Amino acid sequence: MFKYTMPTNIFFGKDCLKNNLVSNIDVNDKPLIVTGKRSAIVSGVQTDILEILKNKKIEYEIFNKITENPKLKTVHEGAEYFLKNNCNMVIGVGGGSPIDSAKAISVIAGNKLKNREIYNSKKIKNAYPIISIPTTSGTGTEATQYSVITDSNIDKKVGFGTPLMFPKFSFLDPKYTISLPKIITRDTAVDALSHLLEGLYSKKRSKIVYPMIFNGVKLIFENLKNTINDLENIKLREKLMLASLWGGIVIAQTGSTMQHAIGYPVTNKYSISHGLANGIVMKTVMKKYYPAVTKDLNELFDFLDIKKNDFYEWLISLDLTIGKKLDTEFIENNIATVLNTHNMANNPIKIVANDIRNIYNKIN
Ligand code: NAP
Ligand code: FE
Repeated sequence: MFKYTMPTNIFFGKDCLKNNLVSNIDVNDKPLIVTGKRSAIVSGVQTDILEILKNKKIEYEIFNKITENPKLKTVHEGAEYFLKNNCNMVIGVGGGSPIDSAKAISVIAGNKLKNREIYNSKKIKNAYPIISIPTTSGTGTEATQYSVITDSNIDKKVGFGTPLMFPKFSFLDPKYTISLPKIITRDTAVDALSHLLEGLYSKKRSKIVYPMIFNGVKLIFENLKNTINDLENIKLREKLMLASLWGGIVIAQTGSTMQHAIGYPVTNKYSISHGLANGIVMKTVMKKYYPAVTKDLNELFDFLDIKKNDFYEWLISLDLTIGKKLDTEFIENNIATVLNTHNMANNPIKIVANDIRNIYNKIN
């Protein structure tokens, strides 16, 4: 038995925003554009949206205070701004951080949530419509019901999900990712790769998403290095964006696993990107899970026409490292956090404290 849910209307390809936002928004809408300091501007999205909104005489507001690993405090501020200005829809523009924040603002404002209530799905009964326009090819949040917001009280990344946070519309135009520098291109693609692989590891894996997983991994495996060496190549950017979208659709069905749970604390403590935090443990996690998902992983390697070791070699060649060992105190303090993360319910095997300790100790 399997279940497949994808309520988001997805538009993908050249000029998809310009050609389709216009017919899906009208003068009764007052969007809050939620973004970071630079991404909406350098990607070109802001110019394109404002042109559409101004032509249709649609009022809007901009909230551009979102940082990487967005904070609970900031999304509450965004929700207050949203309500004060009588907005009735959010448009998240940027990487996962602004889009996750737009989702959070939609439900905080929609339910007048206080303090940490956003992490309690029972409190979430309404959401304002969410539009997403990704400018990275990584998180897949444009096609998921999830958001990850750092709880500023305890300085921990906490993921949460509700079907109400599936965007109503997502517009994916690869041209918006051309301005991404090398390292962000690599790290975000590695995040997408994590989602695809975790879809295959997850207890909730189902064959309905395997074509997306296999083809998505193939697109990244065959094109990531070329893209890093040819950042303005739109054909290559398109391939990474499609892989990333598939990764989102996959985890929307399967959830993610220990791979993500383990990365969250490292991101916060060592100030590294979300994608890199996944990347530094990807090989170890794959080795750990291999006995439990041998048939599925072998099928993937056959599809790629490679051996398992070729995949490991390729991962090593991406140079996913933080250049140091994690300190023991950090490891010991975070084992329980990892074990208590909700993604752990999807692991294909039982994971205990010592497994986490060993995986953390292998990072360098
Ligand atoms: P990000 O944190 O949104 O952005 C990383 C950096 O890239 C920022 O400095 C951003 O600038 C910049 N940037 C974005 N687009 C750009 C462009 N086109 N050109 C130049 N610079 C650009 O990175 P992300 O990896 O996309 O998102 C990571 C977040 O998503 C994490 O918090 C992670 O936990 C979450 N996540 C969510 C899901 C989900 O399903 N909801 C899944 C995986 C990960 P600005 O600061 O100006 O924006
Ligand atoms: Fe991720």
